[in-house]
Amino acid sequence: MTSIFAQDTIDAWRRERQLDPEPLRRLRASFLRKFEGWKRAVEHLPPEHRDDFRRRFTPHSLTLADRRDSNLDGASKLLFRTAGDLPLESVILRVASGRTSLCVSSQVGCAARCDFCATGRMDIVKNLSAEEILDQVVQAGQIIAAEGRRLRNIVFMGMGEPLHNEPELHRALALLVDPLSFNLHPSRIMVSTVGIPPGMLRLAQLHPQVRLALSLHSVRPDVRQTLMPISLRHGLDELHSAMREVTRIQQREIMVEYLLLAGVNDTAEDLRLLPEFLRDINVHVNLIPYNPIDDAPHLAASSPERSRQFAAGLKAAGLRVTTRYSLGSDVAAACGQLVRGHQRRRVNA
Ligand code: SF4
Repeated sequence: MTSIFAQDTIDAWRRERQLDPEPLRRLRASFLRKFEGWKRAVEHLPPEHRDDFRRRFTPHSLTLADRRDSNLDGASKLLFRTAGDLPLESVILRVASGRTSLCVSSQVGCAARCDFCATGRMDIVKNLSAEEILDQVVQAGQIIAAEGRRLRNIVFMGMGEPLHNEPELHRALALLVDPLSFNLHPSRIMVSTVGIPPGMLRLAQLHPQVRLALSLHSVRPDVRQTLMPISLRHGLDELHSAMREVTRIQQREIMVEYLLLAGVNDTAEDLRLLPEFLRDINVHVNLIPYNPIDDAPHLAASSPERSRQFAAGLKAAGLRVTTRYSLGSDVAAACGQLVRGHQRRRVNA
């Protein structure tokens, strides 16, 4: 069966039947913008064509295998499986202001091998196709719509490094902003990277309004190389130049993500060096409390007191800073934790 996102094939199907384009436009609007169910969406077609359409086109490329709703806050973690039975996860983040965001995965596993990340322990298993990335949006969007909420933001901060899967990332972004598909404003989409300068520049050029987040986590080369081995390949000087160029192209700030790790990157030295590194770049710094993972017992979150001091120090140095409220700690919402938990249970079963 062909995916609902194969627009050329669907248009060819329509032309063969000499169908007016309007019913298909309504079908797409129903399924991809209002997040109505497949059955209801297909009812926008003339009755005599519905069965044939259902036989030829499939709405989903993923199966929703598990769902965990937080008892503490508005996070829901969704565990999906690909057609080849590989696990991946998405997280719905509902915050008190009523805004609902979705964090999607771009890969199963990840080659970046960040020290603090459960997904990094899996190595790379598969690049997700654009269809698999977008089906996370469709299925989570249906859950959100059924609650009477609206999906507002999409962030590529789930499993995987999006810039290691550029062709499918760019295809997915094109469909997310396409007026005939999801019709999302690009500024409501954020792509988060560990810092791959050539990919950052291509993203800024192709999608200047899509927001970029950079996981920086340290500006001390040895610390960053230990936390993020990708830094051995793309050092801080190269990253600094790319950040300046991206902000010049996009004419907007980069979101700098900084995970606060006790004694690792929250020292007085870090507080001195970070503003120096960011001095001439348009950034907003997002400090993130660390969600511990079983695989990294050597890492611990900075204390609330140290986190407050760190934020205050950065502000005093003239940076715009927020501390991200960490959602879903009881449903293993940090990247890769639910999949790792499922893998362990399968191994131990
Ligand atoms: S933090 Fe992101 S880039 Fe790093 S290993 Fe995890 S999934 Fe990959």
